[in-house]
Amino acid sequence: MEFNIALLRGDGIGPEIVDGAAAVLEKIGEKFGHRFNFTPYLIGGCAIDETGEPLPKETVEGCLASDSVLLGAVGGPKWDGLPGEKRPEKALLGIRSALGLFTNLRPASLYPALRAASPLKDEIVGKGFDIMIVRELTGGIYFGDRGFRQGKYGEEAFDTEAYSFTEIERIGRVAFETAMKRSKRLCSVDKANVLETSRLWRRIMHELSEEYPEVEYRDMFVDNAAMQLVRDPSQFDVIVTSNMFGDILSDEASQITGSIGMLASASLGAGTRGMYEPIHGSAPDIAGQNKANPTATILSAAMMLRYSFGLTEEAGAVEAAVNKVLDAGFRTADLLCAGEGDPLSCTEMTTKIIEAI
Ligand code: NAD
Repeated sequence: MEFNIALLRGDGIGPEIVDGAAAVLEKIGEKFGHRFNFTPYLIGGCAIDETGEPLPKETVEGCLASDSVLLGAVGGPKWDGLPGEKRPEKALLGIRSALGLFTNLRPASLYPALRAASPLKDEIVGKGFDIMIVRELTGGIYFGDRGFRQGKYGEEAFDTEAYSFTEIERIGRVAFETAMKRSKRLCSVDKANVLETSRLWRRIMHELSEEYPEVEYRDMFVDNAAMQLVRDPSQFDVIVTSNMFGDILSDEASQITGSIGMLASASLGAGTRGMYEPIHGSAPDIAGQNKANPTATILSAAMMLRYSFGLTEEAGAVEAAVNKVLDAGFRTADLLCAGEGDPLSCTEMTTKIIEAI
């Protein structure tokens, strides 16, 4: 089969890790008889430097014309002083919205070989965990009315959260379907004791749960969920939540795996086209030094194979290769614990994974 992939390398370590993931896809193409055509487009700081805009029109058009999108990361100190609308990070909200990507899937699981890297005690992570966070991505407070005005105490700023029935129902359905494909356990996280949007959210999730009687469903307040994730992460399988709560909880879930350089994500819409990216940022402190861990981006490419192209066996081959390389003790600098030897560079880690496929 043949697939057209838009490559958004972005800034900082973005080019290094995206090139690593593209090389892994090339290897998969060779082994399984597929052809991947890559077309690069500008996004973020490098796009500002070249065109004055963080998300040029050609990038949006190129992504819309592709079968899927692989993104590195955007941003860096060079562009930190720019106003909100002109910042590189604005391009992320823009491209998600332009592609209609309302679902963000973020797996957070503990690799047995990396258990020592988790900041949690062994008695907590000893049971292991494998969580899938389903985050609503194009609604809620990040997209609501906002601004500055004169209030009771003078100048004030405001952001508003609104969620429609349609937005909640479609993300809820994705979450129930995801749970059906995993261990059939779903926890919906909200703040229904305070927020009206959460009350509507909870009502719709309950209605959906009647359509999925096989799924063991429960609700949890977001403050409790933040606590439970560090107390006993193994209690969770699929978690569904709103845009802002998902942003925060998925970062927490990623931290307890101990390895930000390992965690992938998929953003999906109604069709098969998705955008796949590591959850970490552009790591300006190590950019251009060939030190970055490419694994999160490589695992994001594996998610692309599975969710956008339906290539389950090929996705499994990438994931198995990553496990094999970790089990053999190969580590980039971010994963290395004391006494574990010398770190591999970004290109060396990529080569090890390619060799293991
Ligand atoms: P970051 O994730 O870039 O870096 C945090 C720390 O983790 C740094 O020490 C970095 O070296 C390390 N790190 C991250 N990814 C790594 C990898 N693959 N291999 C090895 N080490 C890795 O977060 P930050 O420092 O808060 O942000 C830096 C820039 O990235 C900012 O401009 C921020 O806005 C941007 N950012 C972009 C995205 C995105 O593009 N999706 C996400 C988060 C942050």
